[in-house]
Amino acid sequence: MLTYQNKTLDDVVLTFWNAPHSYTGEDTVEISCHGNPHLVENIVRACLELGARAARPGEFTQRAFLNDKLSLTQAEGLLDLLYAPTERALASARAMKEGKLGHALEAVRAELIDLLSHLEASLDFAEEGIEPRVGPEFSARVENVREKINQLIRTAPLGRILQEGALAVIVGEPNVGKSSLLNALLREDRAIVAPTPGTTRDLIEASCNVRGLPLRLIDTAGQRDSTDPVEIEGNRRARALLPNAQLLLHVVEAHQPYAATKIELPENIPSLLIANKSDLGRHASLPEETIFLCALTGEGLGDLEAKIESALLAEVADETETVLTINARQNATLQRAAQSLDRALEALRGSTGLELISVELRDALHDLAEVIGETDNEDIL
Ligand code: GDP
Repeated sequence: MLTYQNKTLDDVVLTFWNAPHSYTGEDTVEISCHGNPHLVENIVRACLELGARAARPGEFTQRAFLNDKLSLTQAEGLLDLLYAPTERALASARAMKEGKLGHALEAVRAELIDLLSHLEASLDFAEEGIEPRVGPEFSARVENVREKINQLIRTAPLGRILQEGALAVIVGEPNVGKSSLLNALLREDRAIVAPTPGTTRDLIEASCNVRGLPLRLIDTAGQRDSTDPVEIEGNRRARALLPNAQLLLHVVEAHQPYAATKIELPENIPSLLIANKSDLGRHASLPEETIFLCALTGEGLGDLEAKIESALLAEVADETETVLTINARQNATLQRAAQSLDRALEALRGSTGLELISVELRDALHDLAEVIGETDNEDIL
């Protein structure tokens, strides 16, 4: 029974966690009470009046990190785990939280330290008048380290998609079924579907999950010439969005002769040609890669989703099995490490000063330490 100022607060269970065996690594008391928000509030108020203070957002995890219970990458993984929008994002967050990035980097760091000690030994010999040497084997090992770092860097675009969603823009003439496609992918009636051309006059954005990949879907206004100011604005916004898209879903009607859109599609962005209304027929003029769909019944939707998945993965991942993906902060720091190693390799090729190579390897080591949070960088803390 928990009482305060002679009043009963609740029947509770108190759990005492002895340092360092708690989440934060500090002595901790957990109060488990009944779920009524009034009870919770009364207990919290009593604690505050007795001198406790409320934790800042993320403070428990920050303390765990500062007390070496979690590495920085594990703390980041935990955050991602709380907000992961799909199963696939969850798997990546879990891998990060389990410390997989830290483990991958440990081996790389050990190798770099070994390389540095070889190098410094050569430098010591140089002081004794012996010509310092680092041979091709040394360069090959540096190159190997850089490749391991590059492998991690290559997971960053997929990491970004998993955290933020890939931007997929639906384009096409009015009335071909763009809104119906959006609804089919969402499996709900989000966009208004109507037989009159020009129903979607502005942009509609919705998030959906395509085979574990989070997608930010944007349904654009039909690309017809119009005098309606709302439609003109809708068309302008659609055009402005295109360069930022990671995937274009170009919808046409399956039973009509194929004609390119009036809107110019950026060539550097992957695009899928979707022939909707396949229930009305399949026109012979449609190119071979056309994906046929009946948005009304959902026929062809599974095939389309598979194609969306492979189009996105082809852009971002060289191994589709990649589970661990890195975030923007880790990417920026690993990029710096890779650049240091590039300069070291350059110096090795030109056989210029061993001191310079040693400085670059040290810088790379420092960056790797920063990735896992062995740092006194206040911003990161
Ligand atoms: P949007 O203007 O391109 O967004 O087109 P909508 O999604 O509003 O659809 C225009 C019309 O086509 C509506 O009357 C839909 O019911 C119809 N429609 C959409 N998909 C299909 C389909 O697969 N088959 C048939 N027969 N009609 C469809």
